[in-house]
Amino acid sequence: MSLKGKGAVVTGSTSGIGLGYARAFAKEGANVMINGFGTPADIEKERAAIESEFGVKAVYSPADMTKPGEIAEMVATAEKAFGAVDVLVNNAGIQFVSPVEDFPVEKWDQIIAINLSSAFHGMRAAVPGMKRRKWGRIISTASAHSLVASPFKSAYVSAKHAIAGLTKTVALETAEFGITVNCISPGYVWTPLVEKQIPDTMKARNMTREQVTNDVLLAAQPTKQFVTTEQVAAIAVFLCSDEACNITGANISVDGGWTAA
Ligand code: NAD
Repeated sequence: MSLKGKGAVVTGSTSGIGLGYARAFAKEGANVMINGFGTPADIEKERAAIESEFGVKAVYSPADMTKPGEIAEMVATAEKAFGAVDVLVNNAGIQFVSPVEDFPVEKWDQIIAINLSSAFHGMRAAVPGMKRRKWGRIISTASAHSLVASPFKSAYVSAKHAIAGLTKTVALETAEFGITVNCISPGYVWTPLVEKQIPDTMKARNMTREQVTNDVLLAAQPTKQFVTTEQVAAIAVFLCSDEACNITGANISVDGGWTAA
């Protein structure tokens, strides 16, 4: 168990990719702070499952990633609960799709706050402890949209490109302190969110399940396979290993060849 006794904070980990990271770190022995929205019963079920399956501490923070004060408090609470925040994963994110001229201003602000600024606030709070201990791992979930654009996603694509720049900057600042800072850029990941879109799209476009998957959802993904949350989490676990100590400032694609095209 490579992360035994370490403390990890994963933002946006009540579902999807974030929950995948939290469970993978716990499997490696880390105590984890989960965060995000959802019904209290569902969140408690996931939290308790992590503790009982992996024998680690799991704590829930309700911090809202649009609120800098709550982000700092989340990091401070995790430091108290686990003794340290050794691993910080900036993962919370939302999407909104609209032509730029109609894009609601409050949606732009919200996406920049959750998908970008929250990572800055988290790093700002967690880096001092990492520097003192001379060890830390910071990982952000970027996206294929940190490298290429799609129309109608101005806020999301801007935030994801900026995450890659923030990653490089903080990697340079912390390189001599045993801290690495990287981002992971998935293509389409199989999450409940994606699964739920299939029946509606089948109906709307009069397509079979296979046609929706290959010609709509995976149109840009040459392998014609969804990335899984386990595949993304496995990269994060590797980035936390000592073998990965010279990988810093990197943007690691896991997109089935999307950005090779
Ligand atoms: P998801 O909707 O399953 O998870 C998003 C998480 O963020 C949830 O836990 C949600 O509660 C939380 N969240 C949303 N707003 C929040 C806020 N204000 N404060 C705190 N938590 C908040 O989506 P996902 O697909 O797992 O996405 C996770 C990350 O991965 C996002 O940054 C997303 O941009 C990125 N990503 C997803 C895909 C994909 O295909 N699913 C591809 C590339 C990148």
